[in-house]
Amino acid sequence: MIVLYVALAIVVVLAAGTIVWRRRRRRVAPSLVAPLRAAMPDLLVSETAPIPSISDEFTLHDRLASSRGVFDRVRSISGTGELSADQLEVVEEVLLRSDVGVTTTSTVLEELRAKGAPDGVVAALREILLNSFTAERSTTTRADAGRVPVWLFVGVNGVGKTTTIGKLAKRHHDEGRAVMLAAGDTFRAAAADQLEQWATRTGSDIVRANEGADPGSVVHDAIGRASARGLDLVLADTAGRRANSTNLLDELSKVRRVADRAPGQVVETLLVLDATTGQNALSQAREFLAASGVTGIVLTKLDGTARGGIVVAIERDLAIPVKFVGVGEGVDDLIVFEPDAFVDSLLGA
Ligand code: GDP
Repeated sequence: MIVLYVALAIVVVLAAGTIVWRRRRRRVAPSLVAPLRAAMPDLLVSETAPIPSISDEFTLHDRLASSRGVFDRVRSISGTGELSADQLEVVEEVLLRSDVGVTTTSTVLEELRAKGAPDGVVAALREILLNSFTAERSTTTRADAGRVPVWLFVGVNGVGKTTTIGKLAKRHHDEGRAVMLAAGDTFRAAAADQLEQWATRTGSDIVRANEGADPGSVVHDAIGRASARGLDLVLADTAGRRANSTNLLDELSKVRRVADRAPGQVVETLLVLDATTGQNALSQAREFLAASGVTGIVLTKLDGTARGGIVVAIERDLAIPVKFVGVGEGVDDLIVFEPDAFVDSLLGA
């Protein structure tokens, strides 16, 4: 009998021990991660912010959570009518933190001071921000008779050009277009491999060449084949070495000339910018705009940054429309930019 009691006691002690150990393990894991993230400098944390899980179902509101969070302080301002100096200061801090930029922030504040906030600060700010988006932002896939429309993608390395091309290939494919990808980033061998994977995933054709090959001839070849096969659209990648190298800009102009020669016709030149780099993206844009006939901007990685205000700065300072925004790494994580939905996501509850 005693032996039975002892055996029973051992079983109970072992079971209780296992439960406690498992619970501790569950508690310990997250706390191992937190101090590391907390110790990171701001920029690094925002660049490595957790990416929302990739799913078919997402809203802009979900993906802009970090950028929206910055506007919490504006949402907490109550009252209507004239704004106090303290309230204007809060708005100023929020706009600067959101990377709207110094120049644009002071224009917005001037307008806010002049107009007041008859329906509250959020409504007043909403109206002013919306007025920033005046540019025409439609895209076209139409070329002249007998020509193949080409979308050319430019931007520095790592901003998300190749990923954006993949996402757009999927979108055009879903809309019934036969797409040809041109792996014009011959500077980086991995870029062509990456583009080839996107071609396979999205059912697109691709023309690629060895590392170091002439990007112009890759694009030329892709357009020739697209024309011969009667395809609807060529999406052409380009190399993205530093924008301050005149070489790169010269090379882009050359690729552009080749792509725009019959049977090709460049109908969109999309400059891809990384939102997590904030005001740096704006300086990059200025260099590219000076050299290549950019028709629109794709702003990537808006999901991983609190710097959503950069969209306002781009539109106000550069007067170039943001046409698409990237909100994740998945194939469906690209949105046609709509000012109303964007501003509502930033300012909405
Ligand atoms: P490229 O050098 O300009 O061609 O850049 P890539 O297309 O290779 O992208 C660089 C990195 O950014 C990759 O890890 C992509 O998955 C990531 N990326 C691209 N677009 C987005 C986006 O909208 N959101 C997030 N979170 N990551 C992105």
